[in-house]
Amino acid sequence: MESMEKIVSLCKRRGFIFQSSEIYGGLNGAWDYGPLGVELKRNLKQAWWDDMIAHHDETQAVTGAPSPFGMVGLDSALLMNPKVWEASGHVGGFSDPMVDDRETRARYRADQLAVFALEFVAADGGVTSYDGVLFAAPGEIGKTDDVELFEPHRKRIASIQKNHAGKQLRVAAVPNALQDEMLRAKVLAPGASAPGTLTAPRAFNLMFKTHVGALEDNSSITYLRPETAQGIFVNFKNVCDTARVRVPFGIGQVGKAFRNEINPRNFTFRSREFEQMEIEFFCRANESADWYRYWRERRYNWYLALGMRRENLHLREHEKDELAHYAAGCADVEYDFPFGRSELEGIANRADFDLRQHMQTSGKDLRYFDDQEPDEQARRYLPHVIEPSAGADRGALAFLCDAYHEDEIGGEMRTVLKLHPRLAPIKTAVFPLVKKDGMPEKALAIYRTLKRHFNVYYDEKGAIGRRYRRQDEAGTPFCVTVDGDTLTAGTVTVRERDSCEQVRIGVSELQPYLGDRIGA
Ligand code: ATP
Repeated sequence: MESMEKIVSLCKRRGFIFQSSEIYGGLNGAWDYGPLGVELKRNLKQAWWDDMIAHHDETQAVTGAPSPFGMVGLDSALLMNPKVWEASGHVGGFSDPMVDDRETRARYRADQLAVFALEFVAADGGVTSYDGVLFAAPGEIGKTDDVELFEPHRKRIASIQKNHAGKQLRVAAVPNALQDEMLRAKVLAPGASAPGTLTAPRAFNLMFKTHVGALEDNSSITYLRPETAQGIFVNFKNVCDTARVRVPFGIGQVGKAFRNEINPRNFTFRSREFEQMEIEFFCRANESADWYRYWRERRYNWYLALGMRRENLHLREHEKDELAHYAAGCADVEYDFPFGRSELEGIANRADFDLRQHMQTSGKDLRYFDDQEPDEQARRYLPHVIEPSAGADRGALAFLCDAYHEDEIGGEMRTVLKLHPRLAPIKTAVFPLVKKDGMPEKALAIYRTLKRHFNVYYDEKGAIGRRYRRQDEAGTPFCVTVDGDTLTAGTVTVRERDSCEQVRIGVSELQPYLGDRIGA
């Protein structure tokens, strides 16, 4: 697994991802996609849209009906009536527990600050607990195996250890230390000089507030959407009434979402502005468990089909105590990032919670009407919902990490992004071998022909080996080189990125040859 520093540095060097407003010192939690990055992210979103919506042709695995179920798209506004967020539960409950350090002014998510006590184990197995100071470090609550110790912590621990010579040090999690005033007073925060500087955790709502219109009072408050999903729910009836869809069917949406995360970190993984690709799939209550399993598998397999390595991708079913009160099931697609295994996408069985909330709050009847149902009682009902909710930025980052390789070709090291051709920002590069003898003219003609079909890059500068390596780093799957034989025999070489193998083919065959392999 490559280090995050290498990925971040490649992203900056080659123009995948930059810090937002960098010349002014940046803005924490916001990122800009450069010329290569924007293509990668667009390709990922396009692949999602094509596979889930536009080219969707999946038959009804669960109901057994031979025709494909409906999948339609939507693009709802970022700003919505604030009642949406009251009904959805976001105004009341979309918050993370936050603690502040009064000394260092650092701010933490309480559930991401691990607190632990020291214990000393004697040779005979006897354990002495040291209860003078508790130590807090960024890490998952309750877990102590991967805590990062800060230097002042290490010094203090070393001096405590002196009084327990011959015994082995171990750490024990103290899960609820921050909630308990007595225990909190003993906690030494990261970077703090003395214990007791952390505040009690308090709920911090993650929605960005803004005002709509000229008056900045309470009546004009609304929020930047923290997810795209609610835009789908509030349009459920509009779509049913206009799109000729029948349950089971899904509505998909791709777009920006905003969350005022307490601690944005791990590059684009946790940002304050990001993009989601979400589906709300509406089905009958008695089929929801089957559809839930169907979507879980389908979404997991989607990443594999785009070339993600199976050993890095996991499908994790949530434990019962992790589930929201209304949810009947939830699974995460997780990826082994260099900073640890983390969520790419969540697939949740949300029952009829969202439609019911909006029906109650808006007073509008959001029930689905099934005109083919013979039983009059059963004709109107609130469908249940399966929600596969993916992040485009997390997806793009995972594909970058997965594609990053350093290998040796002909005795020279190279960095190569082994991106699936559908995701690759540039599909083909065209080079004249040398900048003379009519080769640039010929290469430009080929470039122009191919450019009508896909994203092609022309490069005539520098040694051919360096030009290949520049494209390897950008993830370009094919390089076409025009040489002396092109002018005499009408053939070019096509070099494949991962194997570096070259084949000679006729110029006239080039477009279908590449098109087949690129999927364009
Ligand atoms: P986390 O637990 O990591 O905060 P979450 O469970 O709150 O994520 P959801 O509300 O299920 O996330 O959002 C669905 C998807 O949206 C996530 O799987 C992720 O891909 C993406 N996402 C959520 N928050 C962020 C963020 N701050 N930055 C980037 N992507 C995000």
